[in-house]
Amino acid sequence: MDIRKLQENLESRGFKVSYFDKKEDGAQYICNQITGQKVGLGGSVTLDQMGLYERLSENNEVLWHWRIPEGQTGADVLKAARSADVYLSSVNGMAETGEIVNIDNTGNRVAATLYGHKKVYLVAGVNKITPDMESAIYRSRNIAAPPNARRLGKKTPCAVTADKCYDCKCPDRICRGLVVLWEAPVGCEYEVVLIGEELGY
Ligand code: SF4
Repeated sequence: MDIRKLQENLESRGFKVSYFDKKEDGAQYICNQITGQKVGLGGSVTLDQMGLYERLSENNEVLWHWRIPEGQTGADVLKAARSADVYLSSVNGMAETGEIVNIDNTGNRVAATLYGHKKVYLVAGVNKITPDMESAIYRSRNIAAPPNARRLGKKTPCAVTADKCYDCKCPDRICRGLVVLWEAPVGCEYEVVLIGEELGY
């Protein structure tokens, strides 16, 4: 893995890039960048491990369907997050060549990384990095999705074994759409925050 090469390739595709050895430093950097904003968060073990909901909530209105306020529903929070100025998501696979891959079930997270916000942060631990786009897609399907299905208690073959994707046709299938960001989409600022630790799946 060559972080410098990854950074150069991401920058050549229009992504700003920041790197931190430790997740605490990455979280502090993100919190320093975002104050007084409406912030949406995609479902993400990485963001949870970095404590970003709690930390960002000190100075922002943060909308996360993993922390539903009393009197609201998950659907309420998802809808409100769509109009956030800033959106944070992790990724399922990040190619050293610069392509960024995410798989989604509801579609809220991949939609938000494509359109609708002023700035999108994509936060990733080094475990998400693969050599190229094909291996990033493979990782997203076979390494990231199965433990996510298990975490969610889904009735899928991958949730039982957590070893690979079985391309199931189950009602509980969590892989409904796959998005590859070849370049940073126009009309929005994108920043990749890389963390030199393993985070999420
Ligand atoms: S398609 Fe089905 S088997 Fe494959 S990772 Fe997704 S939920 Fe699991």
